[in-house]
Amino acid sequence: MRIIDAHNHLLDEPGFLAGLLRTMDELEIEKTCVSGLGPLFGMKDNAAVRAAFEAHPDRIVGAVFIRPGVDGPEAVRRGFEAGFRMVKVTVPRGPYDDPAFLPIWARALEYDMPVLFHTGTVAPMAQGRGERISSWAMHPMRIEPITREFPALKVLIAHLGVVWNHDAADLARMRPNVYVDLTGEPDGWRVRADRDGMDTWLWWPGAFRRVVFGTDVHYTKMKTILDQDLARMDRLGVGPETRERVLGGNIAEMLGI
Ligand SMILES: [Zn+2]
Repeated sequence: MRIIDAHNHLLDEPGFLAGLLRTMDELEIEKTCVSGLGPLFGMKDNAAVRAAFEAHPDRIVGAVFIRPGVDGPEAVRRGFEAGFRMVKVTVPRGPYDDPAFLPIWARALEYDMPVLFHTGTVAPMAQGRGERISSWAMHPMRIEPITREFPALKVLIAHLGVVWNHDAADLARMRPNVYVDLTGEPDGWRVRADRDGMDTWLWWPGAFRRVVFGTDVHYTKMKTILDQDLARMDRLGVGPETRERVLGGNIAEMLGI
């Protein structure tokens, strides 16, 4: 079965890319969609991500990091022209649904680049003083107006909203082209969610057809995340066709690969 990690990052530590690729081989992960959120998150930047997918075009898909309010639609264009095939947004300078950001989403749609939105509480490495970081700005329902302006935009809601699971799941239930990922640390929000049962939020028939596999953890923890995700799908009786979509089919379709 084809496995694609739709949500991971390039950390700023020696040998990270080699470690990621080695882990992908071990876990039989065909491709990983990678972004670099820069020093605020202890990560490399877009330039390093570009170098990574240029060196490993069959394994690494580049997600260009856009910070709305700092970066505008031109950054999406530059990213696309450089070979990035996805957009990753987090820590916007205002709420995602700020009308000033509409040209960013318009540009992503123009290039048919899926947009991976961080949603929920955010944990930068640094305090972020002066950066105007607010998790409220990344509430999943902030994405609703974007899906109404651009219903064909391919939207991926990260972490099922972290603390706003109901809202994230319901947006995926109600809107076309909206998907969720269940990424996060093995000891993070997933512990609570799995204790209560992920189907508390993903409750409707076919809900898992809207789930996209990703890890968003250091490569040393990727196996744990994959194992947990497979066990969850066993537990919840997710069938083979849906499982194939979750593990790679959905993101492959979104990326046109
Ligand atoms: Zn992430």
